[in-house]
Amino acid sequence: MNKLEDIVSLCKRRGFIFPGSDIYGGMAGTWDYGPLGVSLKRNIMNEWWNYFVENRDEVYGIDAAILMNPRTWEASGHTATFADPLVECKECKSRFRADKIADGISEAVTTEEFLATHTKCPVCGKENWGPIRKFNMMFTTHVGAVLPDDEAEIANKNIAYLRPETAQGIFVNYKNVLDTFYPNLPFGLAQQGKAFRNEISPRDFILRDRECSQMEIEYFVKPDTWEENFEEMRKLQRDFLENHMGLNSDNLHEYEVPEKDRAHYSRRTVDFMFDYPNGEEELMGLAYRTDFDLVNIQRESGKSMEYRDKNTGEVFIPHIIEPSIGVERLFLAVISTAYIEDEINGEKRTVLKLSENLAPYKFCVSPLLKNKPELVAKAKEVYQLLRAKYGNVTWDDSGNIGKRYRKQDEIGTPKCVVIDFDTLENDTVTIRDRDTTDQIRVSIKEL
Ligand SMILES: [Zn+2]
Repeated sequence: MNKLEDIVSLCKRRGFIFPGSDIYGGMAGTWDYGPLGVSLKRNIMNEWWNYFVENRDEVYGIDAAILMNPRTWEASGHTATFADPLVECKECKSRFRADKIADGISEAVTTEEFLATHTKCPVCGKENWGPIRKFNMMFTTHVGAVLPDDEAEIANKNIAYLRPETAQGIFVNYKNVLDTFYPNLPFGLAQQGKAFRNEISPRDFILRDRECSQMEIEYFVKPDTWEENFEEMRKLQRDFLENHMGLNSDNLHEYEVPEKDRAHYSRRTVDFMFDYPNGEEELMGLAYRTDFDLVNIQRESGKSMEYRDKNTGEVFIPHIIEPSIGVERLFLAVISTAYIEDEINGEKRTVLKLSENLAPYKFCVSPLLKNKPELVAKAKEVYQLLRAKYGNVTWDDSGNIGKRYRKQDEIGTPKCVVIDFDTLENDTVTIRDRDTTDQIRVSIKEL
């Protein structure tokens, strides 16, 4: 097995991530988070929220609806351009994203360019392709009472999309925040939430799924200051990823996206690439979106998106810098950084070296023996104490101590606290450290 398979297997075995609706044969591109997965995921999201929203005076939180007026996606350009190049094998009818099966071509590939690569069908091995067609990745649904036999025209009127990005939920609230909080520039609006993309071929575990969670900030700046604000944001992202998510700087690469590969709205994009177990992939993007979004919204809505500078009286449309990160991509980066196989006294073990702020449980508490009522009672007391203080604490009295340690190592619990007969004498406990496996004795009061 390669490392990614090991991680997928650990995630399933220990209750981090399960394949979506597995019991009915699954649903491609969906994943369900189990008790430990949801805990790690929330810790990641909360760290981000603390870092970028609660610790900053100029950033405000937003939580917009997933279903939005379809005019949103007309204005944003998604209806016209949120599409991948789809190619169909005429032999076996399999469909693929052209730029994912051929080397050296971009999303903007033409039929001629694709055919020139002489790519063979990954399923049947033949080379007999149809033309490249643009496939819009937005999920459509209908809002209100629409029956299957309603005229197509009526059905179309009620069409809605599951939002393909969270950014538009922020843009449509820009004016609301302006009119209620009167922020000075620069200011940011931050949001965490689900976004949906009908990927042609979901793959690579949670890296390319059809339903994902995004964490985004739209940072509104004066047009002539965008470069310094962009730099500032770039530094903050790196600090967050390295010092709060525990990612290794050696595995993080910044990539200046060339113009031909940039999204239609961006004049500069830096992608933060991460060395995942199966190779380098985008972890997050930092884009300078200019005034593209607000100008479009102003045109489509007929409402002014202008900002009036309180000091100079100057009136203009702010420009936007957008750091955007996928929670699942960050989750996989965090867990693959933490996943380590080492050897302790000649015995192999798997350990998740998650930092304390991210680990699902901070402590595991157990009695040395589960059949000694006085030990169990004392251990329960310590457990309640730690839980009241730290919240995320787990209890384990199964098997022997060695087995408990092994299990807690695998789920990333930094410290195991064991209550033994000495505890009853002098109120001290053994604390065993996950990373060093060293054990020290401390008094309960010091915990
Ligand atoms: Zn084929």
